[in-house]
Amino acid sequence: MNQTVFRAGLLDGQVALITGGATGIGFGIAELLGSLGAHVFIASRKQEHLDAAAASLEKQGARASVVTVDVRDADRVKTMIEQVQRDRGRIDILVNNAAGNFYAPSESMSANAWKSVIEIDLNGTFFCSQAVFPVMKAQGGGRIISISMTLHYRGWPLMAHATAAKAGIDALTRTLALEWARHGIRVNAVAPGPIPTEGVRKAFTPPSAGGVPDVFAVERALEDYARKSIPLGRWGTPADIAGMVAFLASPAADWVTGSIFVVDGGEWLARGQSRG
Ligand code: NAP
Repeated sequence: MNQTVFRAGLLDGQVALITGGATGIGFGIAELLGSLGAHVFIASRKQEHLDAAAASLEKQGARASVVTVDVRDADRVKTMIEQVQRDRGRIDILVNNAAGNFYAPSESMSANAWKSVIEIDLNGTFFCSQAVFPVMKAQGGGRIISISMTLHYRGWPLMAHATAAKAGIDALTRTLALEWARHGIRVNAVAPGPIPTEGVRKAFTPPSAGGVPDVFAVERALEDYARKSIPLGRWGTPADIAGMVAFLASPAADWVTGSIFVVDGGEWLARGQSRG
């Protein structure tokens, strides 16, 4: 992480647990929170993702640990929380970032496809939040930040599962904020606009002869989309989202709970309007 507006040591002594923290946006969040002094735990299914990410975080000077978890499994999630608490004694920040997604027409979406996205995004967010609650309550407070999206604001064809799950996460954010405010637990969400992580780049990759992607075509398609569809004229980066997460995790947001912050360069407001 090269530059940040946050002061050095802002999160010294704190413990942050980030699901899906080894890749894409989650990794950007881990980098920023780690650079501000938090001990970051990154949690997901694939050990190889976690090990590579932890090595990179440590190289940047952060304190990082890994936990393997499938957030669909409530028992395993509880064990993860116990493991982090045993190791560091506390959990100050939980970032619910893990998600699965793919395009599928609703009329032929299999029950498994529907279940899989709902279980990772919505159930996973609930299971992790519920499991961390006693830890945060006992220590007198904490911050839960879930990563949502904007596609459900107007609907998004071929994403019935993900839009329904993220709408559920928004509802959960508001409800948990009300239930847990009295314990000093703030619950907020960040709704990113388009960030060209690996998964998004794949969606922009045109089919090509021999299965070798034409990287220039991908770059052109990405630039074209940004010029036409994002008022601020560029794609987002994991650092854009991490900045909002760090703000919500910081004392500057001490009076903020139950809020969902859109960070998208104006994309969803402009949706449907062509900028030529
Ligand atoms: P990504 O790199 O694919 O991140 C997803 C992460 O979730 C991976 O690290 C994956 O790790 C983990 N994961 C998936 N299933 C899991 C499970 N069952 N249990 C535990 N971990 C699991 O995607 P991303 O683009 O950075 O997305 C991060 C978040 O931002 C998601 O919530 C996504 O919905 C949201 N978002 C992204 C965009 C965008 O344009 N990129 C826009 C709006 C919202 P393993 O494979 O190791 O499990």
